[in-house]
Amino acid sequence: QAKMDGKNTYRLFCDSMEDTMRARLELEQRVRDAVSWQSFELHYQPLLRADNGTCIGFEALLRLTDGEGGFIPPSSFIPVLEAMGHINEVGKWVIEQATATAALWPEPLTVSVNLSVRQFQDGKLVGYVREALRKSGLSAGRLEIEVTESMLMENTENVSSQLRELRSLGVSIAMDDFGTGYSSLGYLWQFGFDKLKIDRSFVSALERNDRQARDILDTIIMLGHKLDMSVTAEGIETDHQAEVLTSLACDHFQGYLYGRPRPASEIPAFLLEGKRKQMAAASSAAPSA
Ligand code: C2E
Ligand code: MG
Ligand code: MG
Ligand code: MG
Repeated sequence: QAKMDGKNTYRLFCDSMEDTMRARLELEQRVRDAVSWQSFELHYQPLLRADNGTCIGFEALLRLTDGEGGFIPPSSFIPVLEAMGHINEVGKWVIEQATATAALWPEPLTVSVNLSVRQFQDGKLVGYVREALRKSGLSAGRLEIEVTESMLMENTENVSSQLRELRSLGVSIAMDDFGTGYSSLGYLWQFGFDKLKIDRSFVSALERNDRQARDILDTIIMLGHKLDMSVTAEGIETDHQAEVLTSLACDHFQGYLYGRPRPASEIPAFLLEGKRKQMAAASSAAPSA
């Protein structure tokens, strides 16, 4: 009996390994196809001012269709893009596409682009950005680059010198997912980022462990402000989270509560709807007599 169980367990193990490998091969094929057919898409998620709800810009987020009307999450296909050596090519396209799209938006709306550490390795990044700005006509101040803490750990000198070059072009630099890596206060302090984005995990913790989460958020926001950064909270889903973050003087909001990532074609309607809401709020706040 025990022997039988062992055999079954072994077979199950092999089956599940086979499934994992098959899924990986399928994903690699999808990525390969998307690279050769240039069928990646960018979706854009709004960023808002915390004090009055004005939209200040959008974060560009890469999308790969699963062929069935849905999307494969970037957390699973970006590592594959990196491993297959395609992240530079796709990353360059993201920069070109995002700047060209944002150039059509009303000023001073900004666009934020996420970068992988690999994109700093061949020394071409700054040239790509400069060229994309020139081609699109987008002013550098309307482009923001998002990097994570772990990227700075990997190759500090190389990465930070290129970030400084980007900054001297007028591009702003944000520290993304703050608090999830080896929180590198040293880098934050030395480099002088323009913006700190607090990771979603701290925001969602507000529902579960309010007291502690509030203290941590308070501390991070204070730290950001002391170091002359504006602070964005990611992943806001509830009014409660927004209220707490407003009371802690957080500058900018991003999350499903305000808008999901959407194709560029839907942005004009989104902006119009935002204007309408603000006008309705203003007229209901005005004295009636
Ligand atoms: P990120 O830069 O931290 O982007 C924010 C992620 O949070 C996005 O996930 C967004 O859809 C999600 N999000 C925003 N608001 C909410 C919310 O209220 N609730 C929840 N549950 N999620 C929310 P997404 O699009 O799946 O992207 C995941 C990560 O993939 C990004 O995290 C970024 O690190 C990476 N990524 C996306 N696009 C690119 C790209 O073009 N290049 C590179 N190198 N990385 C990218
Ligand atoms: Mg980001
Ligand atoms: Mg983030
Ligand atoms: Mg995040």
